[in-house]
Amino acid sequence: MEISNYLKIKKLLPKNVNLLAVSKGFESSRIQILNEFGQQDFGESKFQEAYEKQILLSNIKNIKWHFIGKIQSNKIRKIVNHFDYIHSVDSVKNLLKISNAAIEIGKIQKILIQVKLANDPSKGGIHCDDLIEKWEELKKIKNVLIIGLMTINPKGLSAKENLKLFIKCREIADYLKLPECSMGMSNDWNEAIEAGTTWLRIGSLIFGER
Ligand SMILES: *Cc1c(COP(=O)(O)O)cnc(C)c1O
Repeated sequence: MEISNYLKIKKLLPKNVNLLAVSKGFESSRIQILNEFGQQDFGESKFQEAYEKQILLSNIKNIKWHFIGKIQSNKIRKIVNHFDYIHSVDSVKNLLKISNAAIEIGKIQKILIQVKLANDPSKGGIHCDDLIEKWEELKKIKNVLIIGLMTINPKGLSAKENLKLFIKCREIADYLKLPECSMGMSNDWNEAIEAGTTWLRIGSLIFGER
């Protein structure tokens, strides 16, 4: 654990920027330690792994769980049932399935839409032109509260290139009047703050190498 990094990042964060501690690949005991330092928001990318930790930590009532992984459609109901936020909604099809599950369960699911800003075949997301075109339609979908956009930059970009993509994400979010931008990871969080992120997703810098 890199608690000193955690405390350093927390101290540097502007008021409107939240820190999501990405605990995928780390045991629930690490989550518990960080929670004792005041961390409440945790990000996981695989349902089964997350669910096992949720059970082990069910005595801690203040944890908010964020799903940030690739969504498998056969897991959507479970994800909606067990996560407070879903950051990685990468298609209209999955958005509709989340809506249906949320209606069945009787909750309003907070979500962020993953946008594809760069030509990175390894990353999904809705293309920004598509998103803007379909926006009026998407806003009407029931039982989902779209609070923002999420993006993952391709690996190996310069700081300048990372900043440029983050600014683009922030501009689209502002255009759609969405408050939240989930962007910035261990290697590019400074640029994300500069561009106006509201959710940094940081794993290895806090928990150590996986
Ligand atoms: C793993 C992961 C992170 C955190 O990555 P680090 O480099 O460990 O900070 C952030 N976002 C997503 C979507 C991830 O899968």
